[in-house]
Amino acid sequence: MTEAVRVEGAHGFACGVCDGVEFTPFFRSREWSGSGRYLERPERSTAPVDIVLEACSACGLVRQAAGFEVKLDYFDIARGTAKQLPDYTNRIIGSLREFGVGPDDLVIEVGANDGTFLRAVRESGHRNLVGVEPSRALASAAGSDGLNIFQGYFNGDAAVRLRDEHGQAAAVICRHTLEHVPNIRELTAAIASMLRPGGLSFIEVPDCDWVIPGLLAHEIWDEHLTYFRAGSLARLIGATGLTPVRLDRLRFRDTRNLLCWSVRGAVPAGMTAIIAEDATLPVELALYQQRWDAFAARLRARVALAPRPVVGIGASHIQLNFFNFTGLDDSIDLLVDDDPVKAGRYAPLARPVQIQSTETLLATLRGGTIIRSAFPYPSWEDRICDALAPFGVDVIAPDALK
Ligand SMILES: [Zn+2]
Repeated sequence: MTEAVRVEGAHGFACGVCDGVEFTPFFRSREWSGSGRYLERPERSTAPVDIVLEACSACGLVRQAAGFEVKLDYFDIARGTAKQLPDYTNRIIGSLREFGVGPDDLVIEVGANDGTFLRAVRESGHRNLVGVEPSRALASAAGSDGLNIFQGYFNGDAAVRLRDEHGQAAAVICRHTLEHVPNIRELTAAIASMLRPGGLSFIEVPDCDWVIPGLLAHEIWDEHLTYFRAGSLARLIGATGLTPVRLDRLRFRDTRNLLCWSVRGAVPAGMTAIIAEDATLPVELALYQQRWDAFAARLRARVALAPRPVVGIGASHIQLNFFNFTGLDDSIDLLVDDDPVKAGRYAPLARPVQIQSTETLLATLRGGTIIRSAFPYPSWEDRICDALAPFGVDVIAPDALK
């Protein structure tokens, strides 16, 4: 592995939540390319990057270790999330009214992406909406649909500009954005500074405690600088002067998220604060790497004996993470994915791996091994495995080796 020189992060070396300076190792691996990069031609891979996560001994926050943060510029990233609207979207939108946000009150979405969520808010009758989105392509896609979009990063300066132009907000919604930003304290403070007294902040992030018991390290990826657990999220929001009122955990497909409703001021009359707590113990964080390494070794041993070609199902970041982190990065011969951005191209693992559509795979594969690596899409795995069973294709289910 390449050793980077440790340089101070956004919070120096200290924890962005509690200022603690004692961290324990949580997870370490390497990967061959940042997410979202697919090759037209089978070019040789360049050097891998280290993914190094550590846990704050004081508050349990997990983060990319100071000095090992993966740097990304979201101005030029254009990954739409239209297909990722959770089944509990209406519950989030319905909570606006519950917290006293009327149809003409200003609602801001930080990290508006292509406007998918904001359009759902608009359809529910809210008329005074502003989205904040750094990606030029996504901001333009959202704006072309009549949404009011501020293109740029959301920080203290942006909050001042938005307040000058639109006034204080009744609600600020921030979904799956906080875990991507280098300065978590600045972002949450900027959200708090936008709110009118009594205003609502809604923040949603992946729940790090979900990846621990089930050994779901494929959910760890280079774009996530911070991995919140319930305690660290509530503490970060509380430190901005906001009062967490509800902190829930909700499942979506094969992931689980933390959803935190907070207000500027006291808990509203008639409500009681209900705040989820951490779901794993510090010792479980400390043992994670050991458990993962043992699992990865079992899987590699199984794959080493498997007939070739070895085919992985899926070529998204979760699958590439999985093959990188298990050390199967030089053992996969072929990937299958029907996304037109991927099918026909190559995925940059230790060597470039061709990506085929399901249709092509089913028409051509007559031996070898399938790895059930689709994760959120077991019915897709079943379809492929059932169709190829008559040809004696071997099947490996990683979960069975955990
Ligand atoms: Zn901490």
